Amino acid sequence: MPDRAESPTGATEKCGVVGVSLADRDVARPIYYAMYALQHRGQESAGIATHDGFQQHSHVERGLVGDAIDEAALEDLRGAAGIGHVRYPTSGGLNTCCAQPFAVSFKSGSLGLAHNGNLVNTDELRTELEAAGHAFTSDGDTEVIAHELARNLLDADLVRAVKRTMSRVHGSYSLAIMHDETVLGLRDPLGNRPLCIGKLDDGYVVASESAAIDALDGKLVRDVRPGELVVLDPEGGGFDSYRLVEEPKPAHCFFEHVYFARPDSVIDGSLVYEVRRALGRALWQESGVPADVVMPVPDSGRAFASGYAEAAGEEDADVEFAEGLMKNRYVGRTFIMPTQDERERAVRLKLNPIRSTVEGRRVTLVDDSVVRGTTSTQLVELLRDAGADEVHVRIGAPPIRAPCYMGIDMASRDELIAADRSVEEVREEISADSLAYLSLDAVADALDAGESSLCTGCVTGEYPYDIEDEETDREVARPEI
Ligand code: AMP
Repeated sequence: MPDRAESPTGATEKCGVVGVSLADRDVARPIYYAMYALQHRGQESAGIATHDGFQQHSHVERGLVGDAIDEAALEDLRGAAGIGHVRYPTSGGLNTCCAQPFAVSFKSGSLGLAHNGNLVNTDELRTELEAAGHAFTSDGDTEVIAHELARNLLDADLVRAVKRTMSRVHGSYSLAIMHDETVLGLRDPLGNRPLCIGKLDDGYVVASESAAIDALDGKLVRDVRPGELVVLDPEGGGFDSYRLVEEPKPAHCFFEHVYFARPDSVIDGSLVYEVRRALGRALWQESGVPADVVMPVPDSGRAFASGYAEAAGEEDADVEFAEGLMKNRYVGRTFIMPTQDERERAVRLKLNPIRSTVEGRRVTLVDDSVVRGTTSTQLVELLRDAGADEVHVRIGAPPIRAPCYMGIDMASRDELIAADRSVEEVREEISADSLAYLSLDAVADALDAGESSLCTGCVTGEYPYDIEDEETDREVARPEI
């Protein structure tokens, strides 16, 4: 059984991207700093590709940004244009061929691509390209986009070639692209994964999240619009924008706001931290339960719990907001541990209760999401062992009932605790006194978006694209909350 969501069409690419173009200064260091700010989006590998006006340089290594890229590599990465990538971890070993940026020289020049997202028609495109003589070195989506773009560049200018490529590749993609020394940002027509533009003193940046722009003392200009190509032009003092595809409605991933993005990032106009607090408040309004103490699952539940506790405190002045679980920051993410046993052990290593905040009290534990249920099952038990009288679990997102094919590494369907269980059955499974999820309506409200402008595939099983081999697509029951 696969241990993580496997795209039915190939390797998934769930990552952070950045592209920087400066007027007259090496770009490697700013990219390196921006990648630090995006580290939460991928810890498996880190890479930078630059262009110095004559040739492309690239360095990609396994590991965290600080380990993968050393001083010598930064010195070698010359040029005022560049892109960077951090890759999300997977349960298997590093697939070096999928580490990015994907850099390659074609007849039409050199191309570098850093991709966040997941295509749904990779196999079909790869077969066609192979038949046309293209040879692939990886089974990743990014190489397919690179070949497609290179092929189109043979007889079209850059903008037309990108547009043609967009008509061929289906799925989610936020891309930082480098064509020779021109840096581009491209967001898929549904705007599924985030991408924004920032201004620096002497250049421009595109990045998955605005926190990367902050790290460079830059100013967030705006989000790249769904279907938009931006071409950075630091010497001309700006960037050119081309809205190449316009869909009537976007399908922004709500899970970016719920879990994936940094709380200090602004995505599609909303500060993630405030969205999470609003979700927490809505959670209290929808399913508040009397308790002595409200505590977050650190770190993912913190903003939700503070919003929930604030709203609870307006009705019951005695309710306390406290950190009841201490996190060992040196334990990696439990989610990606290869076996269930290891995941359970890791939760125990990672989180330890503070007895005095728990003992003899009614506890409400708040987290952002339940995927397999490992975290909540373990924590409920942990809090009971620490003497909690009651343990209520409140979750700042709807039940995750279906895999993600748009670029977030979720468990496969048969591992999702809520895939075929009612909320009451999940409550029983995790042994909580009560369990409540947030409604999709509340999520749409907090994001100031209609439900129809969000991608909610992991909740409803209805994806913005038809998914090959996903027979139950559109058959998942609407969550009863
Ligand atoms: P689980 O223990 O499988 O129910 O996972 C839920 C926990 O993992 C929550 O605390 C989430 O913050 C976190 N989480 C949710 N989605 C993901 C994801 N795609 N990758 C890694 N961690 C996640």
